[in-house]
Amino acid sequence: MQASLLEVKGLKKYFPIRGGFFGKPVAKVHAVDDVSFTLQHGETLGLVGESGCGKSTLGRSLLRLYEPTAGEIHFDGLDLLSLSPQEMRAKRRDLQIIFQDPFSSLNPRMTIGQVLAEPFIIHKLGSSSEITIKVRKLLDTVGLAADAHDRYPHEFSGGQRQRVGIARAIALQPKLIVADEPVSALDVSIQSQILNLLVDLRKEFKLSYIFVAHDLAVIEHISDKVAVMYLGKIVEYTTAKNLYARPAHPYTKALIAAIPIPELGAKKEKQILSGDVPSPINPPSGCYFHPRCPLATERCKVESPKLRNIGQTESPHLVSCHYAE
Ligand code: SF4
Repeated sequence: MQASLLEVKGLKKYFPIRGGFFGKPVAKVHAVDDVSFTLQHGETLGLVGESGCGKSTLGRSLLRLYEPTAGEIHFDGLDLLSLSPQEMRAKRRDLQIIFQDPFSSLNPRMTIGQVLAEPFIIHKLGSSSEITIKVRKLLDTVGLAADAHDRYPHEFSGGQRQRVGIARAIALQPKLIVADEPVSALDVSIQSQILNLLVDLRKEFKLSYIFVAHDLAVIEHISDKVAVMYLGKIVEYTTAKNLYARPAHPYTKALIAAIPIPELGAKKEKQILSGDVPSPINPPSGCYFHPRCPLATERCKVESPKLRNIGQTESPHLVSCHYAE
């Protein structure tokens, strides 16, 4: 059996909060708190949860855009956290990111052709004329017209700019792409076009994705497996099919219940989440979800549930709830 592309063990990312005259650390934001999972070649893992649950921080920590506080990241057999900054820069060829707002990450003074040529120039991959050919091919691959080459980012719509962001991410034919809320800022009509493009590219370039989103409906479309995050921890992890058919954690059930149903007159059992995600600086005792959970008991207030397998199939169904069954 082929080894996993990505293996993450006990990953933590804490941000210090500094105070006082000397700016000493006085508290920590537990943004990612002891997260473990594996990702196979060609697989897409959806990371989902409300804003502030740590999913974007996890995605960026995997690429060492944030330096993890503790844990292990093994990528394609390599211990990523042991790499020097220089070695990591070279490895970035295989690990790319698509941002939610490509506009803020595109230099307004550079043409799209120059933006897309940059990765090839940095990694010294071809002569000027060879790079021009590669850039034109990239534009075609992501569905942009050839004249986009000489135009500037402000001349494009949000959807077109996201196509540029995708073209830049696939330019060096990476193995893994972290897509950080890539369709959240787009109109619903454009969202499905971008999702379909990502699905097609996955097949064509044998990519793996970590797909970050707050919307479970979006995640369903693209993911093989889904990890639901709450306050820096994974609370449920299973195949996308199983998650929607048999959600086991009360938080997942509430997120699924909140998905709007498009058909007129369709009804769904309502289980709307009340309150906000608690502060990750001072998380609640016991189960982090207990202040919002409709099933919470006294036990939940004091005892933290372990992430355990409740599945009966080969693929694990991990849930952290005392009463998942
Ligand atoms: Fe709710 Fe208790 Fe399960 Fe936490 S452990 S999700 S509070 S029932």
